[in-house]
Amino acid sequence: MQQQSTTSVDLSHMTVSDEVAIQITKMNKWYGNFHVLRDIDLTVYRGERIVIAGPSGSGKSTMIRCINRLEEHQAGKIVVDGTELGSDLKNIDKIRSEVGMVFQHFNLFPHLTILENCTLAPIWVRKIPKKEAEATAMHFLEKVKIPEQANKYPGQLSGGQQQRVAIARSLCMKPRIMLFDEPTSALDPEMIKEVLDTMVSLAEEGMTMICVTHEMGFAQAVANRVIFMDAGQIVEQNEPKEFFNNPQHERTKLFLSQIL
Ligand code: ADP
Ligand code: MG
Repeated sequence: MQQQSTTSVDLSHMTVSDEVAIQITKMNKWYGNFHVLRDIDLTVYRGERIVIAGPSGSGKSTMIRCINRLEEHQAGKIVVDGTELGSDLKNIDKIRSEVGMVFQHFNLFPHLTILENCTLAPIWVRKIPKKEAEATAMHFLEKVKIPEQANKYPGQLSGGQQQRVAIARSLCMKPRIMLFDEPTSALDPEMIKEVLDTMVSLAEEGMTMICVTHEMGFAQAVANRVIFMDAGQIVEQNEPKEFFNNPQHERTKLFLSQIL
């Protein structure tokens, strides 16, 4: 297993509020005839740090992409920060600015500088004055520890640095929830830690986070809840210690035996 030194942190003392951030009820989704998500029920409380694990193709990406409406669900209900994601698209900008997302591939704009990547959406979507957007961007580039890269282009940065820019860029929209979809899977091993460290510091500040990741060291140290998905369903969920030491379902046991 790729054990990271993030295991030296322990966020189990951090409390989670009883305010609901995301409520998913009996949610189903199909791609054509393919029933990809089945009766998903999930309540995420503000300040939770959730890790989603499961085999490839189990629907992890699809589920989190439904939360910021990159994908549309066909049945059931998703409510994010009190706003229901219906077919009415007028709430989409609101949801997208409240829910940040970081992907496996960083998706930075190659022809824009790091600073411009971070100010684009705040200026054009949020209508924030350029100077203010730049100050905010520098604040978050400092937070992810690469302010000196602000005027470079993505291609001049390492993968780990680019992923930290992607995180900073998301934070510039001041999201209340962050979704991560295998943010370290495309990185060389020596760069994984710097990205996980950034995620740890976000968690320490109380950000509500849902992370799809195979970094089980991160899950053990940072998550307050681990959710296991298989074949489009949430099969099992528990706090990390119980999840890893005492898995209940055969499918979970099999998955853990393959990755641990
Ligand atoms: P995971 O992230 O757990 O690997 P995904 O959510 O990416 O799983 O995919 C779940 C299933 O849905 C897989 O069988 C995948 O092939 C299928 N799938 C994903 N995206 C699409 C799409 N846009 N169209 C059709 N099928 C898709
Ligand atoms: Mg995926």
